[in-house]
Amino acid sequence: MSLPITRKDVLGSGAAFLGWDFLSTLDAPDVVAATEPPGGVIVVTLLGTGAPGPSPNRFGPSTLVQVAGMTLLFDAGRGCTIRVSQAGLPLDIDAVFLTHFHSDHVNGLPDIWMTSYIGRRPPSANPALREARTVPMRLYGPPGTARIAGNLHAAFSDDIRMRTADEGLTQAATGIEAHEYARDGVIFNERGVTVTAFEVDHGPLVKPAYGYRIDSGGHAVLISGDTRYNENVIAHGTGVDIMVHEVCALSPEWRDNPDALASAAHNTSPEECAAVFSRTQPKFAALTHLVLIGATPDQVEARVRAGYAGRFVVGEDLMRMTILGESVTMERWNAQKSGYAG
Ligand SMILES: [Zn+2]
Ligand SMILES: [Zn+2]
Repeated sequence: MSLPITRKDVLGSGAAFLGWDFLSTLDAPDVVAATEPPGGVIVVTLLGTGAPGPSPNRFGPSTLVQVAGMTLLFDAGRGCTIRVSQAGLPLDIDAVFLTHFHSDHVNGLPDIWMTSYIGRRPPSANPALREARTVPMRLYGPPGTARIAGNLHAAFSDDIRMRTADEGLTQAATGIEAHEYARDGVIFNERGVTVTAFEVDHGPLVKPAYGYRIDSGGHAVLISGDTRYNENVIAHGTGVDIMVHEVCALSPEWRDNPDALASAAHNTSPEECAAVFSRTQPKFAALTHLVLIGATPDQVEARVRAGYAGRFVVGEDLMRMTILGESVTMERWNAQKSGYAG
């Protein structure tokens, strides 16, 4: 059994920062340094590009946007906490936004919420755990978001009770501050960054379902959420710098299967993605939430390419796109190096 060591103990040991850095090298040889983009730069990281089925290569849907010194998380799919940590970023996300309540978009939420409040104990070299949250996690979403927040708090009340008594966590640190909206519009406005929610169409029985647009300094990122081909995506996505769009692809042999067709009816086909991109002309587009039913990523790429000549990519976990001035660059994650190539 090891004794708990607080950050204060390490910092008070006389070799404060040396000790901290020494632990870093021991503890986490495979994490990259935290990256804080300079002012005016927007970084979009696809944390997870998968769908409901568990996959070691594609974690659940989740996209991180770093802008104006803030980290904003859009959906919290399975494994998002691991991906944030891999990217060398702290877990104390400034705000989390849910597009809708399908489990693949929220099942990583308890993890990132609870792991971010225990960050300081024990001290860890993992940059994700260097700073624990000391204020409630802010959670934005359509009606139902507050119920999720309240129920999570109830479900994990024993962890909160023990850590509050045993580790001195404050009530604020373990809180979730829920913000609900019920219609299209600006739902977040801080440091010159606005987040606009807009309703999408994920099928008549899957409501509410929203997408988001993030604006800062004359640049914009659109996250489609889960949707069929939808005019609201076109309206909000026209001329954005980066469009992150969901996709669902069936191979020919699945096109008569009722379950496959039901999935397809809730999502956007590669041909429809090509139409969305053609109409909105984003500087750069990335496909995420890959629902692949007998189809491969290469086939998805070819089918989109057949109808769209602009810059787009089939997303991969930890793929990172950067808006700098008028340019958008993309970097792939190199799993061998545990970092970005180049
Ligand atoms: Zn969904
Ligand atoms: Zn989904």
